[in-house]
Amino acid sequence: MRILVVEDEKKVAHFIEKGLREHAFTVDVAYDGEDGFFMAAGEEYGCIVLDILLPKMDGYEFLRAIRSKSIKTPVIFLTAKDAVDDRVKGLELGGDDYLVKPFAFAELLARIRVLIRRGKEKKVDKLKVGDLSLNLLTRTVVRAGKKIELTPKEYSLLQYLMQNRGRVLTRTMISENVWGYDFDTFTNVIDVHINALREKVDRGFPTRLIHTVRGVGYVLEKREKK
Ligand code: CA
Repeated sequence: MRILVVEDEKKVAHFIEKGLREHAFTVDVAYDGEDGFFMAAGEEYGCIVLDILLPKMDGYEFLRAIRSKSIKTPVIFLTAKDAVDDRVKGLELGGDDYLVKPFAFAELLARIRVLIRRGKEKKVDKLKVGDLSLNLLTRTVVRAGKKIELTPKEYSLLQYLMQNRGRVLTRTMISENVWGYDFDTFTNVIDVHINALREKVDRGFPTRLIHTVRGVGYVLEKREKK
């Protein structure tokens, strides 16, 4: 895993570089924001450690620049000042986490590991349950090699069910997450949509994936035949 450290204070930069190398990371160091930006644009990093006060291009400009280039690498920024404003600004500009200097290396290492793990999860662009798969990029749904046409609402509903596979979802959870608000308790909009989805996703296939949990809601999962 390759990490980019953008830090103009050589002592701090070397301290981070040495520590990360000892933990089997490959490390590149940039001593100003501009160099850092070119490196971030030209190489895929697992994480970027970013100082805020930097020559040529400061950490905020750097963040804005990489995010506008759609570089989604997780960024942990270092701030010398313990000012809330700095941290809020950094997070709003697309930073993922921050550390206030001075910090313990173990703390930085722990935060980097969390960000790398999270970054990997974000890259999931396909959901799969049994022989049913949903591609989040192309918004296509396929079951056992057969393409299934869904309305936008049915698609959103299926996506929500698949993201929560194996978990029982109440009608309230479904309405809040798929429709954005809670329906009146007596409406059957969700049941109607679930039935439509079942017709398309489950009908004609040997195993059903969408199950009713009586009095509670619905669950999507692959159940082993008893
Ligand atoms: Ca600095």
